[in-house]
Amino acid sequence: MRFDPTELAFDTNSLDAGRPFDAAIVGAGPSGSAMAILLARAGARVALIDAGRFPRDKLCGEYLSPEGVEAVERLVPGDRLARSGGRPIRSVRLTTPRGRTLEAEVAGPDGRVGLGLSRSALDALLLDEARSLGVSVFEGTRISGPILQDGRVVGVSGRGESGRPVAARASVVVAADGRHSAQIRRSGTTRARSLPGLRPRLFGLKRHLTVSDPASDEPSGTVGLHLLPGGYVGACRVEGGRTNLCGLLPERLSRQYRGDLDALADATFSGNRTLSALWQAAEPTGPWKTVAGVRVETSSPRLPGIFSSGDARGTVDPLGGQGLTMAMLGAEVIAPFVLRALARNDEGPAALRAAQRAWHARFDRRVTLCRAFHHALVQPSLIDVASLLGRWGNTLLSLGFAATRDPVRISC
Ligand SMILES: Cc1cc2nc3c(=O)[nH]c(=O)nc-3n(C[C@H](O)[C@H](O)[C@H](O)COP(=O)(O)OP(=O)(O)OC[C@H]3O[C@@H](n4cnc5c(N)ncnc54)[C@H](O)[C@@H]3O)c2cc1C
Repeated sequence: MRFDPTELAFDTNSLDAGRPFDAAIVGAGPSGSAMAILLARAGARVALIDAGRFPRDKLCGEYLSPEGVEAVERLVPGDRLARSGGRPIRSVRLTTPRGRTLEAEVAGPDGRVGLGLSRSALDALLLDEARSLGVSVFEGTRISGPILQDGRVVGVSGRGESGRPVAARASVVVAADGRHSAQIRRSGTTRARSLPGLRPRLFGLKRHLTVSDPASDEPSGTVGLHLLPGGYVGACRVEGGRTNLCGLLPERLSRQYRGDLDALADATFSGNRTLSALWQAAEPTGPWKTVAGVRVETSSPRLPGIFSSGDARGTVDPLGGQGLTMAMLGAEVIAPFVLRALARNDEGPAALRAAQRAWHARFDRRVTLCRAFHHALVQPSLIDVASLLGRWGNTLLSLGFAATRDPVRISC
C-alpha cells in the first residue's frame, strides 16, 4: 500500500497544551503499553493514546506463552500478574474431526508455564503500570495519522469521543495500533507474507463462555486447538471460571451464514466432536467479537520520525501463540532505537532502518516457523497420521512448539 504525505493534515488543537511529548505512542495494547513503560523508565515524556477505554475486551486466544509471562514480569514488577487469576497452561491438545488427539508440552525450558488470561485483564495490567510511571494516557481518542512539518513527523492528530479534533506534538511517533494500523496506512507500506492462494481468506471470532459440564470443558492446564476443515477453534480457560473460544475460519463461512455466528457455530463446530461437546455445554458470558482479513504481513513506516511495534510492525500466525509475546519482546527490541533517536535528535531513515533490521533479525525465524506450523496443523489428515505415531507424534509436536521460541541462551 503506498502513502501520500500530502494527505496529512496539521491540526492545532492539542491533547496537551504544555510542552511537546518526547514520544506519542498510538495504541495501548501490549506493544504500546510495553513501549510506554520502557521509554518512561528511561526518563522520556510519553503520551499513550488509544481509541478504546480500558479495561476492554479484545479478540484473541488469550494464551500467553511462557516467554510472554516472563516479558510481563519484566514490565510489571511485583506479584500483580500472579494475582490476576490467570490459569496456568502446560500443554496444547490438538483434536481432529476424526476424533484423534495429539498433545504437547508447551512449558519453557526452565519449566515455566504459560497463562490463560483475558485481554481485558492483561492489557489493563500493562496500561496501569505505564500510568504509574507518569505516562500521559489518553483513552477514547482515535488517531487518524501523523502530523507532518517540512517532511518530518512532528506529532499525531485525530478525534476524541465527542468528535472533537485533537493533536499531540511529539519528537517521535510509535505506531502500535495493531493489525490494519491506520498509522502505517497513512505513512508506510504493508506486504503480505502468506503466499496468495495457499490458504483461504480467514476471519477470527471469539467468545467467552462458562461450561456447565466439567467433562466437556477444556481440561485444566491445557489449551485446545480443535481442527475443522480450513481452520480451527482454540479453547483456553481464563480467570473468573470462564473459557475463551477463539478461532480462525474461512471467510466464506461468515458470508454463508450472513454473519449469524451462533448459526455458524452450531453448524460447523459439530464437525469436531470435542469442540461440539464443549459448545453444547457452554453458556455465553459475552458477545461474539470478530476480525476480518487475518493474514501474516510485515509493515514499514516510511516517514522520518515514525517507528512501529507489535502487530503494526508485523503479524504472526496466531496458532503458535506468539503474537502477545512478540508484541512485548518487539517493544524491547525497538525501544533502544527510539531512545537513541531522542538522545541524538536524529530520527532519520537510517535510525528507522536499523530498528527494522533488529526486529527482523529477532523474529523472522519465528514468523516463518509459525506460518509453516499453521499450514501443517490445519491439515487434520496430517494430524490423524501423526497421532498414529503415539508418543513420537506428541514429541514432534512439542519440538515444533519449542522451535517457535527464542533459542535457549547458555551463559558460562
Ligand atoms: C484469531 C486470533 C487469535 C489470537 N490468539 C492469540 C493468542 O492466543 N496468544 C497470543 O499471544 N497472540 C494471539 N493473537 C495475536 C495477538 O492478539 C496480537 O499479536 C496482539 O494483540 C498484538 O498486540 P499489539 O499491542 O501490537 O496490538 P493490539 O493488541 O491490536 O492493540 C492495538 C491497540 O491500538 C488501538 N488502536 C487501533 N487503532 C487506533 C487508532 N487509530 N487510534 C488509537 N488507537 C488505536 C486499539 O484500540 C488497540 O487497543 C491472536 C490473533 C488472532 C487474530
